[in-house]
Amino acid sequence: MPQDARSAWRTTLGQLALALGLALALGFAVGEPWPVLTVAALGVVAWHYWKLRRLLLRLTARQRLAPPVGDGVWNQVDRLLYRSQNEVRARKRRLIEMLRAYRAATAALPDAIVVVERNSQRILWFNEAGTRLLGLRHPRDLGAALGDRLQPLPIAHWLAAGRHAEPLLDAPSPVSPELRLSLRLIPYSDELWLLVARDVSKLMRLEQMRRDFVANVSHELRTPLTVVHGYLDMLDPAEQPDWAPMLTEMQRQSQRMTQLVEDLLTLSRLEAQEALPEETVSMASMLSTLKREAEALSQRRHSIAIEDAAGVDLWGSTKELHSAFSNLVSNAIRYTPAGGSIHIRFVSERDGGVSLAVEDTGYGIPAAHLPRITERFYRVSTSRSRESGGTGLGLSIVKHVLNLHQARLEIESEVGRGSRFACRFGRERIRARDRVPYPEEHA
Ligand code: ADP
Repeated sequence: MPQDARSAWRTTLGQLALALGLALALGFAVGEPWPVLTVAALGVVAWHYWKLRRLLLRLTARQRLAPPVGDGVWNQVDRLLYRSQNEVRARKRRLIEMLRAYRAATAALPDAIVVVERNSQRILWFNEAGTRLLGLRHPRDLGAALGDRLQPLPIAHWLAAGRHAEPLLDAPSPVSPELRLSLRLIPYSDELWLLVARDVSKLMRLEQMRRDFVANVSHELRTPLTVVHGYLDMLDPAEQPDWAPMLTEMQRQSQRMTQLVEDLLTLSRLEAQEALPEETVSMASMLSTLKREAEALSQRRHSIAIEDAAGVDLWGSTKELHSAFSNLVSNAIRYTPAGGSIHIRFVSERDGGVSLAVEDTGYGIPAAHLPRITERFYRVSTSRSRESGGTGLGLSIVKHVLNLHQARLEIESEVGRGSRFACRFGRERIRARDRVPYPEEHA
């Protein structure tokens, strides 16, 4: 027992002994010791009850009562109670302050935050931005199914993917289609997910402006370039020996500029499209076209082989897929020295999909460049790309075309040994080939 409690206990026992001793002495003095002692004992009991009542009052009081003074056990109990009540009040106040600060912080957050129960996908909580960006209403939407509430958003299969869901980078808000959102799902415990929605309207507008600008500039450049290119083509270097080297270089550069403008326009067009017109892409004729083009580009400097092991067709845009594949084939030929070999393989993959791979035995690409190789104008060696007539946009076009087919580009490369660019298509892109191709079509 602590010192305070022990001394209070002693004081109370002392007081009791004193009261009873005095009562006994008084009893003997008046000749009635037992009745006087009984009355005194009853008085002690009454006093204890009165103290108990005060304690009860303190426990039930709404306002704060002043701490008691005195040193008996009851006063000590009362004081301890007063102290613990004060501590509880202070802790509660601190908690409320923290909660207020937390609520103010979530209210100030520009991003919508929704806490979702994982199994039922029901909304447990959301912040103010949840109302502004996602149109959720307090308290109506608490407990509602997230998928139902955000119906116009294409998030059903995204929610189903759960932990493996890729962030949605640009989706229209249910509040207004003008409002563009980027959404991500963050599992933060076994049962709870956090849906975070960010307003990316401004970013998207800027992106759109950039796209429009590039498209407009390319478009505006096209006509004057066609005129210059046309006139330059009419001039025959053989007829102007003095000007011949200059004319040849001018023709080469204007050809390059025209190609650049065409590639920029292709990219702008692909970026502006959400989906392409789709059809069955006959892979047998695609492969034979690729082979013809490769041979024309190579001029017998490389050995070219085609393998059509998948034996299926694809579902997609023949024109765009052809542009992507022929970009890969042209790269393979341009970045492979004479004497090298190029393999174009159309094969089935273990996951049920198919891939079209272009393999070469060329210069290869250092590993450090691979992550950025599909960016516009990114080149490993600018001089080599220029020399080979590249625009630096080929792989960007390939990536865009594949994205529009939910396919991906896999690149493996080793410097000095060669590269492998594989376009991987999911099984949903496969169509049975209804006609056995003529041997010469894919040989
Ligand atoms: P470019 O028009 O310059 O060829 P691409 O976008 O097609 O532009 O390719 C980007 C860069 O990737 C090229 O400049 C080249 O350095 C590298 N590259 C592409 N394909 C190959 C390949 N098959 N072998 C080696 N390097 C390649």
